[in-house]
Amino acid sequence: MKELEERILKDGRVLPGNILKADSFLNHQIDPDLMQRIGETFADHFRSQGITKVLTIEASGIAPALMAACALHVPMVFAKKHGAHNIGNDFYTASVHSYTYDSDYTIIVSSSYLSSSDRVLIIDDFLANGQAVHGLLDICKKAGASASGIGICIEKGFQPGGAELRALGYDVMSLAIVESMEGGTIIFR
Ligand code: 5GP
Repeated sequence: MKELEERILKDGRVLPGNILKADSFLNHQIDPDLMQRIGETFADHFRSQGITKVLTIEASGIAPALMAACALHVPMVFAKKHGAHNIGNDFYTASVHSYTYDSDYTIIVSSSYLSSSDRVLIIDDFLANGQAVHGLLDICKKAGASASGIGICIEKGFQPGGAELRALGYDVMSLAIVESMEGGTIIFR
């Protein structure tokens, strides 16, 4: 997605530890027009898959997931991260290792909102080593739902998550794939 690549070059910042900051337009302050076009681009690609739910993890995945859900006219569900006390007794959980914080956390989704009849589109803001997506795939598996596609705003192609998911047969659509960020210079695939 040319528009996203140009925005990354204009407003993205490369931090030590191979972190790309996109928080002026993607995941802290959010550009709603860009986000709407991101959602529509995902929806156009995955529309033929008969998607019934869009699934993401709070908080950064919610904006692109909601926009994709809007364009597909299906509900969006986000996995909660913080000991969800009010979620009831019936839920699915998975463990995720956080790339940005280098720690493990549990994600949780109420069993009311995901079932074996669902065809799920997984969305996230970044794909690095693939831990977050694998956590969401785990939740889908526990619910008996089929994971019908994965939509990522920015894939860091020099980390293995995307290649591993594609090798497993998943349709991974990344709107921008960063090939390298060495010396702070961002190069796209
Ligand atoms: P993974 O689980 O694929 O290793 O990492 C993806 C998750 O970590 C995303 O949900 C995202 O929030 C965070 N993440 C990974 N790399 C980056 C990065 O370079 N920049 C930002 N802002 N978040 C990242």
